[in-house]
Amino acid sequence: MKIIQNKKKKNILTIVCCLHGDEIFGLDVFNYFKKHLEDYPGLKIILTNEKAIAAKKRFIETDLNRSFPGKKNGSHEEALAHDLLSEINVSDYLLDIHTTTSKIKMTPIIVSLNQATEKIINLCSSKEVVLMHGNMSKKSLIGQIDFGVSLEFNFEYAKQRKALTEVIEITKKLLLDKKQKPKTRKVFFIDKKIDKDIVLPKGVENFDFIKNLDLYPFLLYEKSYKDTLGFAASKTEERKI
Ligand SMILES: [Zn+2]
Repeated sequence: MKIIQNKKKKNILTIVCCLHGDEIFGLDVFNYFKKHLEDYPGLKIILTNEKAIAAKKRFIETDLNRSFPGKKNGSHEEALAHDLLSEINVSDYLLDIHTTTSKIKMTPIIVSLNQATEKIINLCSSKEVVLMHGNMSKKSLIGQIDFGVSLEFNFEYAKQRKALTEVIEITKKLLLDKKQKPKTRKVFFIDKKIDKDIVLPKGVENFDFIKNLDLYPFLLYEKSYKDTLGFAASKTEERKI
């Protein structure tokens, strides 16, 4: 695990990169801020699963984002989870960078709506926000803290400069305590998974309402999911954030 910090100010924001070793956009984000660290007082950046990055794999022993709160003497990822938590406790905000093969642009994922997470969402371009039910997020990083947002980018979109630019803009504004004009966003309350044997209507996309199943899919057809077609929300709500 690589950790670097601009200590000109107390730690305001932590950006966690590469919980999943095959999501190399996290490496771009880490390298960018490493190179320009002096411009970001109060920022800490963490490159998490270096072993999995080197192996070009999602994880070595256990999926890190399902291994929290972790164990000191557990699997490679459980030990990482344990060490990571002690590193992020003092931040006001946390960004957790991910990519997906599913057809989205960038969607922020949270576990609760509160002052810290709303502040981060306010700075995101996405009009959709995903709120994971406690049961679904118990073992994930954002399930352990209440000031973190996972930013889920499509892996192709993440190759474009504007994906990195969005992370940079969010970072700058969080560090300077700046806000954007709130906009109406749709919050999707995720509380289940879609079984892989379910036949979905043709051409259905993330966030489309599927009437006969009474759900809204998210991270549909993500390739690393073996036993499910994706997540599903049973309700949505509009919020000005
Ligand atoms: Zn991921």
